[in-house]
Amino acid sequence: MKLKKGEEIEQSNIFTEIVLDNLSREELIDYFISINEKKFRADQVYKWLYSKSADNFESMTDLSKSLREKLATGTRLTKVTLVETTKSKIDGSIKLLLKLEDNNFIESVILKDSTRLTGCISSQVGCRMGCKFCNTAKIGLIRNLSSAEIIRQIQRVNEVALKEYGKELSNLVFMGMGEPLDNLNNLIKALEIILDENGMNFSHRKVTVSTCGISNNISKLFKLKNAPNIAISLNATNDETRNNIMPVNKKLPLNRLLEDIRKLPLPKRKRITFEYVLLKNINDSLEDAKRLIKMLHKIPSKINLIIYNQTEDSKFEQIDYDNVLKFQKILTDAGFSALIRKSLGADIDGACGQLYANYLKKRGKYVD
Ligand code: SF4
Repeated sequence: MKLKKGEEIEQSNIFTEIVLDNLSREELIDYFISINEKKFRADQVYKWLYSKSADNFESMTDLSKSLREKLATGTRLTKVTLVETTKSKIDGSIKLLLKLEDNNFIESVILKDSTRLTGCISSQVGCRMGCKFCNTAKIGLIRNLSSAEIIRQIQRVNEVALKEYGKELSNLVFMGMGEPLDNLNNLIKALEIILDENGMNFSHRKVTVSTCGISNNISKLFKLKNAPNIAISLNATNDETRNNIMPVNKKLPLNRLLEDIRKLPLPKRKRITFEYVLLKNINDSLEDAKRLIKMLHKIPSKINLIIYNQTEDSKFEQIDYDNVLKFQKILTDAGFSALIRKSLGADIDGACGQLYANYLKKRGKYVD
């Protein structure tokens, strides 16, 4: 569609202005110095943006009026808007639909269990990894989220958690839409703010990045002052099966992936989580359980067994709970920590692999 003249000007302004909340702390300081402002002013703004979730300059009341006006003229802040929430009648989990400034949408989920409120966070609009058990894969990759969009998303999720449950998120998992390590630079920039005590102040023990296994990028997370937890979405014990359900395996076969994981500079007491979605007659045999034991030998690990959420158009079937228990027993008998992960949010399409199930419907309903 051709834009009218006025719209062109408006669009170009958006993209040439400095997006202040897309800057790292160091970049923010550099920017303030470049406009002849003191470093401590940058620190004040940083605090407003990330520990007080400010989304406009007027609310930054300890800055002078002239500085607020200067910032409002030369820069802008990112907007991520909550458009809809859906609450699970089964377990109280909440799915959020969020709108981005370019009329794209993402979904996030608040997973509620007895002790934790976990924000399941998206890193991309769509995903290009093509995992066969995942709804997000069906729309392909539309674009990466900026670091500011990741942060604003978390702030919106936190606001809903406070409103609905009277408390803030305790944990974050990058397990929503997208492959976080396919958007590495923006992820790292966001993580620096999430884990910074002057920023969002999450403990690195409470933040998990889940990946289908882009191993050369996993090692880059260990350059952060405190690396988050790492979860690998494994889901198979041989290349043939993994190639079929996770095309990424064709580029990085299991042996190489595990070899790379063995080389990670894991701090003491940190373990890698292996996610294993059990798919009936695909990867759920007792031989699979035995192979898994051999594969994870000498990797400090814990295993999450995930029961597949079967939907109307699913290609895969859910396995019987008895068989999940048998699979688990083989692992625990061999000394592994293997938890069966309760599938939260399944009735709201908010469970693992279900995000963006209704993408086109939602987009049609809420686009301006
Ligand atoms: S499971 Fe994760 S990595 Fe795989 S297609 Fe879905 S969103 Fe992408």
